[in-house]
This record gives sequence, C-alpha cells and structure tokens, in this order.
Amino acid sequence: CGIVGYTGRNQAVGYLLEGLKTLEYRGYDSAGVEVVGTDGELHGVKCAGRVATLVERCETANLVGTAGIAHTRWATHGAPTDKNSHPHRDCTGRIAIVHNGIIENFRELRSYLQRSGHTIVSDTDSEVIAHLIEDAWAGPCKGDLVRAVRHACRRLEGSWALAVVCADAPGQIVCARNGSPLVVASTEDGAYAASDVTPLASVASHVIQLENGQFARLEASGAVEVFDEEGVPVAVPTTIDIDWD
Ligand code: GLU
Repeated sequence: CGIVGYTGRNQAVGYLLEGLKTLEYRGYDSAGVEVVGTDGELHGVKCAGRVATLVERCETANLVGTAGIAHTRWATHGAPTDKNSHPHRDCTGRIAIVHNGIIENFRELRSYLQRSGHTIVSDTDSEVIAHLIEDAWAGPCKGDLVRAVRHACRRLEGSWALAVVCADAPGQIVCARNGSPLVVASTEDGAYAASDVTPLASVASHVIQLENGQFARLEASGAVEVFDEEGVPVAVPTTIDIDWD
C-alpha cells in the first residue's frame, strides 16, 4: 500500500525505512526493501508484519548501496507472508519491483510466463511484472529500463504504481503509474519516489505527480525524466508544491 524509492549520493536504506514509517498510516500487513549493492548485486529483506520488524532484520543484512526501493503491502492476492511480501524479483535475481494496486490478468500472464520457462515463486498478482520486465530487458529493450518497463506494462490490465531497480542499470529507478498514485522528486542529493508526498516533505519543496500512463526515470544525479505511454518525454510534468502546513 506504500512505495518509497531513492537513488543518489547517500546510502539508500536509512531513508527508505524512514519513508516506510511515514507511510504506515495508509495501512499494511508486510514490508520490504531492496538495494542495488555496491557489489553489483541486489540485496533485499522482506517480511510479514510491522516496519519495526523489517528495521530489526535489516540491521543484520548487507544493504550497502545508494539506490533502492521499499514497499508496504496490503495483500490483495496471496496471503500476507514473507514470501509474498514485496519487492519481487525476476528469475535472474537482477531485477526487482514493488507494486501497489491489482493486476487483474495475472493468472493469464502467470501461465504464459510459466509456459515460457519462468519460475514464479510467490502467490501474488505482482510478481509477473518482474518476469515481464525480465523478458523485455533480455530481448527487445536491452539497455533501456524505461523501455523494458513500458513494454511490460503494455501487457498489464488493472491498476499499478511501480518502482523498479535493475542491477545492470545501477543508479536508476524506473517508475510507472496507472491508477495507483505515485510522486517523484528531483533534489541535489538524488531523486526520490513515493506513494504520496509524506516521505518527501523532509527532502523536497515540490514534487512531480505522475499521471496515469506515465513513466519516470530517476537517476543518481537527481535527474528525473518523465515519459508518456509512447516513451515520448513529457516537457511539463504536473508539479505539486508541498505545503508545510
Ligand atoms: N496486489 C498486490 C499484492 O497483493 C499489491 C498490494 C498493495 O497494493 O500493497 O501483493
């Protein structure tokens, strides 16, 4: 039910966990975090239960990295278990996604993916997204994570706010929005993504609100680019000033 993302010059995990705490009011049953490690691998921790439990488990995990995504889940498909918590990875373990919303056609997508050799490990509707991105990244969209995410989203029916990291696109977070809310912010310290402005109020004075059908590429420099459904850059994205009151 909540998404947080950060890429920039600082370590990611501290901000991600703080951000999840500020989103707790939205309600949730599980939480998780995934960081693109300085060793070039993804490192994640996820569990059913409170953000406080996740924070405890993160203390003994190797979450060193300056780009990452985090999630609080309100289960719609699949019980609230460790396995079903987000982030979800693809088969290579090099792509991870967090998703808020519901993928209505996940059963068809899951059987299509299984027939083409993917192993789906969770009971969620969300995991298929990671595998669709995997195929796009390995095939027609290699080297362009926005393109791979757009390609995957064309197959989805339902609602989504998405944040995606890929160990082979270090420093990048790609976001997508259709139905579920998502805002992003560009700052000197890096770029941020969140379900609403609450986790961003301490870091940015204005944010970009993604519109339905839009995508965003966040970079470690703090740069944020927004694209429409066709991948065309959006010259003037919708911005909101954060009202400190
Ligand atoms: N439908 C997804 C799931 O059950 C995401 C739920 C959410 O928005 O937190 O895992």
